[in-house]
Amino acid sequence: MNANELTIKQARELLDRGDLTAIELTQACLLRIKELDRHVKACLTVCSDEALEMAKAADERLKKGERTSLLGIPCLVKDILLTKGIKTTAASKMLENYIAPYDATVVKKIKEAGAIILGKTNLDEFAHGASTENSAYGPTHNPWDLTRVPGGSSGGSAAGVASNMCLFALGTDTGGSIRQPASFCGVCGMKPTYGLVSRFGLMSMTSSTDTVGVFAKTAEDTALVLQTISGKDEKDLTTSETKLKYDFQDSLKGIKIGLPKEYFIDELDGEVKKIVEEATEQLKNLGAEIIEISLPNTKYAVPAYYIITPSEVSSNLARFDGVGFGLSANHEEIKNIKEFYQKSRGLGFGPEAKRRIMLGTYALSAGYYDAYYIKAQKVRAKIKEEFIEAFKNVDIIITPTSPHVAFKIGEKVDDPLQMYLEDIFLSGVSLAGLPGFSIPAGFKNGLPVGVQLIGSKFNEAVLLNLAYNYQKITNWHLQKPQLSF
Ligand code: GLN
Repeated sequence: MNANELTIKQARELLDRGDLTAIELTQACLLRIKELDRHVKACLTVCSDEALEMAKAADERLKKGERTSLLGIPCLVKDILLTKGIKTTAASKMLENYIAPYDATVVKKIKEAGAIILGKTNLDEFAHGASTENSAYGPTHNPWDLTRVPGGSSGGSAAGVASNMCLFALGTDTGGSIRQPASFCGVCGMKPTYGLVSRFGLMSMTSSTDTVGVFAKTAEDTALVLQTISGKDEKDLTTSETKLKYDFQDSLKGIKIGLPKEYFIDELDGEVKKIVEEATEQLKNLGAEIIEISLPNTKYAVPAYYIITPSEVSSNLARFDGVGFGLSANHEEIKNIKEFYQKSRGLGFGPEAKRRIMLGTYALSAGYYDAYYIKAQKVRAKIKEEFIEAFKNVDIIITPTSPHVAFKIGEKVDDPLQMYLEDIFLSGVSLAGLPGFSIPAGFKNGLPVGVQLIGSKFNEAVLLNLAYNYQKITNWHLQKPQLSF
């Protein structure tokens, strides 16, 4: 086994015992990136020199007997999270050469815990999308089948973990961007409760649903990283005092799992459905009780999300005007300030960002605001209430993560509506601010399938414990794509 194939837990033991150095582990990951990333294209930036420096520092700390959660563990970071001294592009032309003056709080936290940042991962521009094809720098390829998408928007982070380029990765999830790529790439992907993890230094997309979360190889590793990045941040006033506490138990006795019938729709692939049913059956054997539930407003989640998201996007992207932030059009050819804004924004943003700015500006404009934006917020309130009601009777809700396996690159990219429907099982959770955890549960034609575990607010520990127990009796999460060139 190569060191880059280790889980965090395995590497932790070896590093702590002195049987592996952070330098060796980092070199193994960098070598893997070098071998594979020409084909997978998970990374937009690889910072080998900085990573080796960090590894050297980690080895010194280890030698002194220091033991922090991520000391010496190499990772990748989605390129929408600010990293001091390392480029952060949001996969946009707008920020092609942008170097942030400070670290995002999550980046600061993993660095303090001793993690080593290998590079920055590809995404749909500004996290708008579900396939990573909206990146201004070309798509990422799914390591299980290079002709397919890895999902998105955090496709690079998911592909990086799936192909063992790193031991974990940070991603963001606004409406599914961790859970869906985790499902498509066969890794664990946790979107935490809104407010558990700081958003400071994350470039805002939809401020009311943006979250930073974790891609990892196991539930145990996910818990460790999530615990490290969670907690109050005075720089993000929406963070709660809650820091993740978890405790793995050996049974699921007494756990009630809800199966919402609205998630088992006609569009759901038959084999994916079977995999979710099999997983449910196994959870039952582990002691859980399965209860059929109803979430009748599920079908309104995508329409409400696609009013609220563009509305917030249109406002958040206004800062990229070529003056304060972003690409500046060539001054010499420009006659006035309006033309300067038009040219700068026209050149800097890709088609999906432009589409969302237009949709959002429309939904927020006088005369349409009540009909669209306010109505969408009312729907959102209903969806939230419905989840709160459901969690009075169950501890966890289980659903498919995606209606199907990874699709082909190019298959949906020209059809925004089809792409938006990718979020069908995901946007409700985001609108309600709940935690969602996608874990590998099977394969269809050699392509991974994930199931989504949904919890009530700040109940990540229950999801992690369930996944931990499931992973003790299954090996879906251990299977890796066979890639060699
Ligand atoms: N697919 C969703 C969208 O395009 C989710 C994006 C995200 O979570 N960042 O908005």
